[in-house]
Amino acid sequence: MDFAQEVKAAADIVSVVGAHVRLKRQSGNRYLGLCPFHTEKTPSFSVHGALQIYKCFGCGKSGDVFSFLMELQGLSFIETLKLLAQQQGKEMPRKGGGPGADAAARTREGLLQVHEFTQRFLVEQLKSRRGAGAMRYLRQRGLGLEEIEEFGLGYAPSGDALMSYLKGKDLRRSHVLESGLVGQSDRDSSVYARFRDRLMFPIHSDGGNLIGYGGRSLEADRQPKYLNSPETPIYRKNAVLYNIHRARTAMRQSNLAVLVEGYMDVIGVWRAGIRNAVATCGTALTSRQISMLRRHCDTVVVNFDSDSAGQAAAERSVEMLLRDGLSVRVLELPSGLDPDEYCREHGGESYRQQLEAAPAYFHWLLDRSRTQFDLSTSDGRTKAFEHLLRSVVLLPDEVQQATTVTDLAQHIGLPQSLALAKLRGAAKPSSRSEAAPVAQADGLSPSERLLVVLLVSEEGARQQFLEKACEIAERGLPSRQILSALRAVEKADGPFRYEAVEGRLDGADRERLARLVFDRDRPTPTLADGEDLLAALQRQALEDQYQDLLRHIGRSGSTADLPKLLDRKLRLERELGLAQ
Ligand SMILES: [Zn+2]
Repeated sequence: MDFAQEVKAAADIVSVVGAHVRLKRQSGNRYLGLCPFHTEKTPSFSVHGALQIYKCFGCGKSGDVFSFLMELQGLSFIETLKLLAQQQGKEMPRKGGGPGADAAARTREGLLQVHEFTQRFLVEQLKSRRGAGAMRYLRQRGLGLEEIEEFGLGYAPSGDALMSYLKGKDLRRSHVLESGLVGQSDRDSSVYARFRDRLMFPIHSDGGNLIGYGGRSLEADRQPKYLNSPETPIYRKNAVLYNIHRARTAMRQSNLAVLVEGYMDVIGVWRAGIRNAVATCGTALTSRQISMLRRHCDTVVVNFDSDSAGQAAAERSVEMLLRDGLSVRVLELPSGLDPDEYCREHGGESYRQQLEAAPAYFHWLLDRSRTQFDLSTSDGRTKAFEHLLRSVVLLPDEVQQATTVTDLAQHIGLPQSLALAKLRGAAKPSSRSEAAPVAQADGLSPSERLLVVLLVSEEGARQQFLEKACEIAERGLPSRQILSALRAVEKADGPFRYEAVEGRLDGADRERLARLVFDRDRPTPTLADGEDLLAALQRQALEDQYQDLLRHIGRSGSTADLPKLLDRKLRLERELGLAQ
């Protein structure tokens, strides 16, 4: 077994995928979740624990634990191997660069290194005399050493101390320039530090790599108040959520994410014991970020600032979240406090209660509409309802739309029948959801399907039944290509791999096989079923032959062949038990 095979054998695809996608067990070791590679509302992303493969029946992406991480995190094969090896505590064998050490991977590696060194520098600076002002600010905001360390906060001094620090490290100049941490003057192409006299918040990828910074100005009137890393090969601002790598476990456990506006809000609620909060890093919420959330939970509590900008941002974000099928609640804290301030003044327990009591989005919207519409008149009530209806139709599920509408009608004081009629008028025909993996008409008989599944999943079954099954199928059964691919892989050296079987099939058979393996409605065959399934296959083949023969006899004009054909017919009838 080479090193990659060893790492793959030790990795468990269900837990690797499960760290990024919320998976629900279907039956046996088949799991289903929302595809991280395309936007969907109905899960069609399937993971097979025993075969160590995944397949999306929406967008068609499929593969193993390596291709999953490569695709999801934009890593090369070598980087993925390294990552998994590291998690397993294995040392990578050294082999001078290796084939996958391509230019892009080297650049990413280099950029990550620049960030690592920079981080050490910024943390040192915060603890030094130069960082005293930043430290004072943090103390004022109630932060202790514990949070400062947990969140890796640092200080970027004015001047070019960072430049000299980085110069002393073994880093490529091109990587330092590309990191976004320095700028280059147009005039004389001299290099300067991008962040100066700023409190620094390191930003991590989903997987926990340090990929960029948000820097807060420490002078009250200095603009911009927050400066973020520019786009780089490792930092894409529309695909980043602050704190996601720490929050994701808690998000999955509670099936809930708290969406706040700023870095300090995340840290503030963390101090109060809330572990599932994330923040957008100075951008409006993007669909890419929403799909990051959806992989971990169904419900999002939006807790933005109470000022009008914050509320407008909340309303926009909520609409996007609803459209993507998340259930949304909105928390508006009393007396206009932001989450960080609230936790400092009232404590974590009180904030937790606020979170739990946060109203569903429509109730929040309804409360807001009370100030815009006069609900004491029937005209005002109708107008308010129509206003709310615009958001209701964003809900992806018609049942949900109807229950929300009746609920709202009751609160506003509108007849439910009228409300439902208005909903029917306003609702767009919803697009049909993606197909979950259900076996479709594939030409295979039920026992043929089960036999294929059994042979794919059990080595013992392959040893006992594969040869015979191939022999039977070769007489013209629809599964013959799949079975002969199975046999070829079984005979080859090395461990049996599902992907190797796929590799020997054309597109149609590959799809057929994947649907069979992931079909959620079929029973799971066991070794003990093998004999019966094989017998059924045998009978199916004979019946096919018999039908062919009958057609042939019917069409045949010559009488010379007839005795031979009738003789065969009789033999087949005996085998099938049709004749004595
Ligand atoms: Zn997909």
